[in-house]
Amino acid sequence: MNNPLINLVVPKISLLNRSGKKIKTSFLDFPVMESPLPEDRILIFAPHPDDEVLSAGGFMALAKINKALVKIIIVTNGNKRNLKKKRYKETLKAVEVLGIKNNDVIFLNYPDGKLKDYTHNLSKNLSQLVVRFKPTIIISPYPFDTHCDHKILSLAVRNIVKGLKYNGKIFEYLIHFPRYPKPRGLYENKYLTPPAFLLGLDNKKRWRQLPISFEIKKLKTEAISQHKSQLRFPIVKNLLLSFIKKNELFYSER
Ligand SMILES: [Zn+2]
Repeated sequence: MNNPLINLVVPKISLLNRSGKKIKTSFLDFPVMESPLPEDRILIFAPHPDDEVLSAGGFMALAKINKALVKIIIVTNGNKRNLKKKRYKETLKAVEVLGIKNNDVIFLNYPDGKLKDYTHNLSKNLSQLVVRFKPTIIISPYPFDTHCDHKILSLAVRNIVKGLKYNGKIFEYLIHFPRYPKPRGLYENKYLTPPAFLLGLDNKKRWRQLPISFEIKKLKTEAISQHKSQLRFPIVKNLLLSFIKKNELFYSER
């Protein structure tokens, strides 16, 4: 795909916006999004096993409580450390905690870290899934994520949605970005806010948040704790726990 975003190198984090003013953010700056409704059909795209629960564990739990349909697509096999089988099992256990059945999870099995070599097949695959499932809400990665697989998947989904003239909602999530989430580690009484650098690039109003209640947070925490193979690595553990906060954050252009 010839898209300039793929080669985006994130410069040194700037806390200044384009007019040179310091950007201050608080969770109060971001509108609260609607909870999923019973008639919603939610399609979640995750580049790796665990991205779905980190980004939208609370959203999915709420969707299931509200009786919406949820389908999860795990795009790569997460096999960087030969942990594919383990990670697939952990994913199924994790989403089960949120009320999602095993047959609502589809593993596409692309090689971890190599999505950029499969863009053609990937687009075909994803497009079929969207046509078949007819989602009212798509949840997918945000294109400025610094992990290559996340970026490629994000752009593929954006292109498909455009090509299919999909008119539902799209909520995009960020996982990898310098100094994000802040603070790093388990701070479950803090809020997620977008990195200041991205607010300089994008319209602040396009970020929205889903408040996460104490009960939903408990479910999300239990779901994340199923990813035992990842929690063994201190740096990864720190990242995973950083997504247990008082809200979830999504970017949406519609
Ligand atoms: Zn990932």
